[in-house]
Amino acid sequence: MIQSTKDGFAQQQGTSPGTDAHIATTGEKDVLVVQGLTVDLPQRDSMTRLVDDVSFRMHRTEKVALVGESGSGKSVTARALMRLNPKLKLQGRVVIDGIDVLALPERKLSSVRGRRVGMAFQDAFTSLDPIMPVGEQLMEALIVQGVRRAQARERAVNLLTELGVTNAEGRMKAYVHEFSGGMRQRVVLAMALICEPKLLIADEPTTALDVRIAQQVLDVLEDAAARRELAVLLITHDMGVVASFAERVLVMYSGRIVEDANAESLFERPLHPYTEGLLGAVPRVDHSVARLVAVPGLPVPPSERPDGCAFHPRCAFATEVCRATVPPLRTFGLRRVACHHAEERGASNAV
Ligand code: SF4
Repeated sequence: MIQSTKDGFAQQQGTSPGTDAHIATTGEKDVLVVQGLTVDLPQRDSMTRLVDDVSFRMHRTEKVALVGESGSGKSVTARALMRLNPKLKLQGRVVIDGIDVLALPERKLSSVRGRRVGMAFQDAFTSLDPIMPVGEQLMEALIVQGVRRAQARERAVNLLTELGVTNAEGRMKAYVHEFSGGMRQRVVLAMALICEPKLLIADEPTTALDVRIAQQVLDVLEDAAARRELAVLLITHDMGVVASFAERVLVMYSGRIVEDANAESLFERPLHPYTEGLLGAVPRVDHSVARLVAVPGLPVPPSERPDGCAFHPRCAFATEVCRATVPPLRTFGLRRVACHHAEERGASNAV
């Protein structure tokens, strides 16, 4: 049966999407469409594939978490959407708010960055210039677009105030290192939002913060997104953050998406053994377990990705087919799972 999935790709139930099935049309409500994205790192005599055939889409207002351990390819994927690393070779299609980003000439990328998509990094010093007052930086982003200085100043102060920066007017002259961790992340969010993008990519925005401050930053982000009808792609390795923020979850392992599901279904019943492993390592108030279990073994670097399912050296369910053949990302109901044994794990009854 051919059906249109939640992510919008026409696929046959329980089968692999063929090449043509990856060609999605951009629906009116889509703010982001990613089709067959691959990211290669050229090396002296070879290429290392960092991201392999990633496809997904996001609706306006949707809050999606891209999760996985360090080295899974989630940050590389996020940065590839904005073509932030010119050394990497990108293939596939990335459409943000109707603009085909990978087809754009370099000089036109500024029409996308900031204005259609904003990016908030974990490290404030990546987003902000440490030797320029934060207010000047916020204003500059608007002034280069033709906004008058007085108006730019007013918008910057209003945005900082909205995001909970205390004494925003006075703090316009402060430098990034003069803010506390939580306030610094609010300034980073302000920088990402100042041009009123349609899509915000937040890369580990709370990792360096303690739990209470992290939750405050997530709440501020959620409120700001709701007011703007903004889509948010949250990159994180923290399933607790996912649970409190995301509507939909994309799980990445070794550069590939291995599971795509709405957050409730995913937490209720993970279908991919890797997702199950990630959740098994997180304390939960709704499930009592004797002890938490970490995913066994370590992730392999992309240059040492094994044949077949990249997760097979760590998977308790691996069989011969897992070691020989890459499992395609198959659709079951509104979910996608890349596991040869998905049916045995209950995928046929997935919603
Ligand atoms: Fe485990 Fe095989 Fe599924 Fe990979 S394909 S997750 S090795 S059962």
